[in-house]
Amino acid sequence: MNSIIVVFDNKAPSFCNYSSNASMKDTLKIIDFDLFSNLIDSIVDENLGIILVHSNIINQEYENVLDKCNFTRIIPPNLLSFYSKDNNIVVTLSVEECFSVDKKLLVEDLERVLIIRVNKNNLSNLNRAILNLYRVAKRINIVFESSELLATDQLLMYKKELCIIKDTIIKNSTLNSKVTEINAFTDSLLNKSHNFCNAGKDHITMNYTGKFYICPAFIYDDKFKSLENVNIASDFSLGYNSLNQIELCLNCPNNQCQNCFYFNKLTTEEFNIPSYEQCDRSNIEKEIADSFIQ
Ligand code: SF4
Repeated sequence: MNSIIVVFDNKAPSFCNYSSNASMKDTLKIIDFDLFSNLIDSIVDENLGIILVHSNIINQEYENVLDKCNFTRIIPPNLLSFYSKDNNIVVTLSVEECFSVDKKLLVEDLERVLIIRVNKNNLSNLNRAILNLYRVAKRINIVFESSELLATDQLLMYKKELCIIKDTIIKNSTLNSKVTEINAFTDSLLNKSHNFCNAGKDHITMNYTGKFYICPAFIYDDKFKSLENVNIASDFSLGYNSLNQIELCLNCPNNQCQNCFYFNKLTTEEFNIPSYEQCDRSNIEKEIADSFIQ
């Protein structure tokens, strides 16, 4: 294991393939200070990193503890003005928020990474959302916040959106200009082998209540329970990460695949078996990547 994700409060935004159900009307609840402080001590002892996801400005008392370790914070765009001088932040935005975020706070020399959350209802705005921000981000990760399978027409729409993004980037790039990485197609060119998420092996997640989960997606889904007897100091693997060993994935030429254990479990009831929809999505991304370098 190399890092712990800490969902610091009950309104922390989603940053991967799930919806956080956070409501602005809820009263803010944050992690207990002693719990946080003890966790950070263990993280320092084990030489792990921490990814902190939070919805509000964090008190200095917590920040002082946090300073003991290597951390990245994932924040919604409304906190960007407060943390804009930090270079260890990742901003997670809905497609709609891509149009309202203050782009001056996303200056290129800070090498910002953005996560853009799309769902089937706003898929047709994906190209405009990304093209609005791609010049001010070093990297953009597209994630799907809906846990529903995309229908054939939605997959075609996804392909069309990626094509527009790819064509626009190519049209506006000069020989030596920097190209923003976009996980859906540039990763395929950069990865030398299958790149899966490895939740439950490379990282696990602690909720603000102190409970551990495979990843944040499992916090918000009542079908799943928290993990028992987690000891971050032990040699850690939950054993869900053998995608490279199943034939379907073993022989797959697509190194970029958002092969998500949570989504797999929802759709096929197996952590290690992706749905065909996931393969279709990955094939689309591979096709766009291949046409990117032609
Ligand atoms: S299993 Fe991995 S890819 Fe899927 S939601 Fe969790 S962290 Fe994200």
